[in-house]
Amino acid sequence: MPVSRLDQGSTVDLLNTVWADRAGVHDELAEVDEKRELRDALRVLAADRTSDPRPVAAGHQDRVAEAVATVNAVSALAPSWPVLVDGDVRIACDAGPEERRLGELAAEAVRFFGSDPQLRACLAPGCVLYFVKDHPRRAWCSTACGNRERAARHYARHHSS
Ligand SMILES: [Zn+2]
Repeated sequence: MPVSRLDQGSTVDLLNTVWADRAGVHDELAEVDEKRELRDALRVLAADRTSDPRPVAAGHQDRVAEAVATVNAVSALAPSWPVLVDGDVRIACDAGPEERRLGELAAEAVRFFGSDPQLRACLAPGCVLYFVKDHPRRAWCSTACGNRERAARHYARHHSS
């Protein structure tokens, strides 16, 4: 169903605004406080859902209840309702555009986590991203991570003795 695909995309995109390269872990939302608070809560839920063993998710077990409360509160920020305008259905909302976007992101995330998504933590060396396992053989967030993992295994095989 196209709608749920869209929802999954935006939730995973938001989760992955934390990413890593050789220089370390980066945060794309470093200056957007409210969105970052939502994203951090969603990453706690993602870590919980995937039993994330990576250092970037350390301590998430103690923050799950707080994260659920944050996501639910943000989801309630921008209630909307259908209205008839000249015979067409429009969506009315009395929040400002920023609040509305944030509320929609949180509402999408609620539906995402409530739909039992096949969410996975990418366990390639150094990666901090999440992905939806959308086919049975998918094991990494990207082909780059798959290649990195294969190279690391190759290296370990040839340098262990
Ligand atoms: Zn990855």
